[in-house]
Amino acid sequence: MDGTGLPETRSTCPYCGVGCGVLLRPDGHGGLDVRGDPAHPANFGRLCSKGAALGETVGLEQRLLTPRVNGQDVGWDTALQQVADRFTQTIAEHGPDGAAFYVSGQLLTEDYYVANKLMKGFIGSANIDTNSRLCMASSVAGHKRAFGSDTVPGTYEDLDEADLVVLVGSNLAWCHPVLYQRLLAARAARGTKIVVIDPRRTASCDGADLHLALQPGSDVALFNRLLVTLHEGGALDKAFIDRTHGFDATLRAAQSDSVAPTGLTEAEIAAFCALWMRTDKVVTIYSQGVNQSTSGSDKVNAILNCHLATGRIGTPGCGPLSVTGQPNAMGGREVGGLANMLACHMDLENADHRAAVRDFWGAPAVPDAPGLKAVDMFRAVADGRIKALWIIHTNPAVSMPEADAVRDAIAACPFTVVSDITAHTDTARLAEVVLPATAWAEKEGTVTNSDRTISRQRRVLPAPGDARDDWDILSEVGRRMGFAKAFDYANAAEILREYATLSGIAGQFGRDFDISGLADLSDGEYADLSPQRWPITPACQGGRFFADGQFFHPDGKARMLPVTWTPPAAKASPRFPFRLNTGRVRDQWHTMTRSGLSPRLSAHLAEPFLDIHPDDAMAHGISAADLVQVSSTTGTAILRARITDAVQRAQVFAPMHWTGETAPAARIDALVAAVCDPVSGQPESKASVVAVARYDAAWYGFAVSRQAMVLDTDYWALARAAQGYRAELASRTHIADWEAEARRMFDAPNAHLSSVIDTKRGVARIAVHADGTLIGALFASPDPVAVVRDYLADLPGTDAPGVLLGRPAADVPTPGPTLCSCFGVGINTILSAIETQGLMSVEAIGAALGAGTNCGSCRPEIAELLQSVRIREAAE
Ligand code: SF4
Repeated sequence: MDGTGLPETRSTCPYCGVGCGVLLRPDGHGGLDVRGDPAHPANFGRLCSKGAALGETVGLEQRLLTPRVNGQDVGWDTALQQVADRFTQTIAEHGPDGAAFYVSGQLLTEDYYVANKLMKGFIGSANIDTNSRLCMASSVAGHKRAFGSDTVPGTYEDLDEADLVVLVGSNLAWCHPVLYQRLLAARAARGTKIVVIDPRRTASCDGADLHLALQPGSDVALFNRLLVTLHEGGALDKAFIDRTHGFDATLRAAQSDSVAPTGLTEAEIAAFCALWMRTDKVVTIYSQGVNQSTSGSDKVNAILNCHLATGRIGTPGCGPLSVTGQPNAMGGREVGGLANMLACHMDLENADHRAAVRDFWGAPAVPDAPGLKAVDMFRAVADGRIKALWIIHTNPAVSMPEADAVRDAIAACPFTVVSDITAHTDTARLAEVVLPATAWAEKEGTVTNSDRTISRQRRVLPAPGDARDDWDILSEVGRRMGFAKAFDYANAAEILREYATLSGIAGQFGRDFDISGLADLSDGEYADLSPQRWPITPACQGGRFFADGQFFHPDGKARMLPVTWTPPAAKASPRFPFRLNTGRVRDQWHTMTRSGLSPRLSAHLAEPFLDIHPDDAMAHGISAADLVQVSSTTGTAILRARITDAVQRAQVFAPMHWTGETAPAARIDALVAAVCDPVSGQPESKASVVAVARYDAAWYGFAVSRQAMVLDTDYWALARAAQGYRAELASRTHIADWEAEARRMFDAPNAHLSSVIDTKRGVARIAVHADGTLIGALFASPDPVAVVRDYLADLPGTDAPGVLLGRPAADVPTPGPTLCSCFGVGINTILSAIETQGLMSVEAIGAALGAGTNCGSCRPEIAELLQSVRIREAAE
């Protein structure tokens, strides 16, 4: 209970793989009060900006509340029978491999378990893959090759005890902010050194002792040099190497490799190697920059080779730690949600494992070959091999590489089902059947975070409308397909008990994943389950792996893999001279179906953008705030140019979040080629090649509105604002009648208009009022519009008398673009405080304004702002 007397419920944040504990309390109006759980071992009360804003994202706006078939609301009976009949018919006519499930790291473990059991056990195909394939499949492959199992040896506590933490292809400050703050706290306490290895200068570099801006895809060459240097420096652990196979061949391969492709200087490489060599406690954190590569698995093994060769693994403060992007990516790996894995880390290719799982499930057969991984799965949809597809809580029409082709394939698939919380996604709009699922705060289950900690998600809000839990929907389809006994679950607890029992069988085969200690949980104990790191057996709980030199290959030894550098698949050329890196921004999540509902989060970066180096911008005639057209062989996008030397020359960066719902011309994955790591099947999302050119529009615009706008210009990007919406606009089509355009855009045929229109110069400013309050305002000009956007975004719903000025009166200060989302502190406010109060540190700004004192995610940007002020003052 808290001060209000209402109970708080322990649950888990549904965004990233840090898996922070949250305390939730319904506010009585359909929303939630959210704070960090001080008792959760992942975050000890901290939350990042996304977690802190969760309460703003649980409303029913845009929720799907009723099953739909062909756009018509229907009852569950009709919808589920349709799904069961079409899958049964497809299997009868085309065999089990004519069907496929594409699922998601958003699923809870219990949902995942049922989906996997239905497909691999009863439909009889391994065609179930997950969007985690796009996130960490290369880590899975690397772990399996080295350890004989997909075991993550590192823990979050290791960050507290390490003396050197190396971030490889990980912008931890933005993508796993609570872990990053934990790392900074450790640095403050013990002087932990931090190295960032990333082609971009990201927010994570702000706290780093060394930033190695290597060339994209060259990580293997760097870690091979590290191995050779460790060898030459006598820093290897001979006794631990005896617990491995392959050292000699691995060293020879490393010696044969060149560091030339890294683009780093010898001094930079030497500094990195020296830090590693003189530090016993080293943690290497790696993420999508490693995994999303055609050599992703080799990169992982190059990192693991160094940890194995030095014995820096499995002991406090030591080891590799892959951090996952999604809340339950790890749970999906454990439960067999990938097309090439069986449940509980058992192997599809192992006849004994298959037989054990088949017998346990009472299944007719378990396939003996891997199913289609994500990219191949959608190719099979495109060429007609897959004829019935069920997509659950993911948006592949936006998020898959070659997204336009994937979108077209889904549209042409004979039968597509989508389960989701909203029908407002690019993918759901293509489906024949759309099923309303419960959202994270409405469902019961478990998730596993990046350090193997299993936590509960708990229901604190009622299921709205007809929404049902995913395990329940999948189970009923299973029953209707004739598998009544196998899918007769009463609740999520029963599913976890079954899963835990199966893991005990995996444990008997010597597999790492064993949670059989949960097999006899009562429903009440499941309800009260506290966070626990696996393994969880009667004999062992949360133990460390590998410090004893015992691995999961049949002989108990690890494998060191001889790997050498291979370049990214696509070659830059005069036609496509830029290498495109894609990734996340600080305050948004995936395709923004949840985080995009929060005005606070949308205020940070409200528009899709392309980071481009100043020299490249100048060479291509691109100025700040211009729009640019980015194109590859597979698609095009229009993005706002941000000119910054955070990216190297000939490299550009674009975020992945914008969709057909929010900026249809900016679906960046349409440009990403679907080329994959040959071992893991993970696509290379960070090294496509593209062309960039200035996009010359006939006019540019900015609009704010109380209600959603009707937008159909060549380029538009829509975002939430505190008082409604804001949109950036551009078009190559001239507008003849601006007032008519404004009425159409704001759906206000009879409202009162005030306007300033200069037809000759092509400038228009129009305000639309109804009953004395502003319902919309449109600003257009032949150049990118110069107005004070954050000020305007707050005006809808007020009388807004001076709105056509586009800025506040001279004596009214504006906070400027939001920098601290938690407390809504803008750049202007911080700059003013720096100048008037003489604040000279991030801490002083925090003490004065609160900025950066909650989640801390914006602290690197505050530091950058301070630095820019110092540089400016020094120059004056
Ligand atoms: Fe959620 Fe942020 Fe924690 Fe990730 S770091 S789990 S997004 S609160």
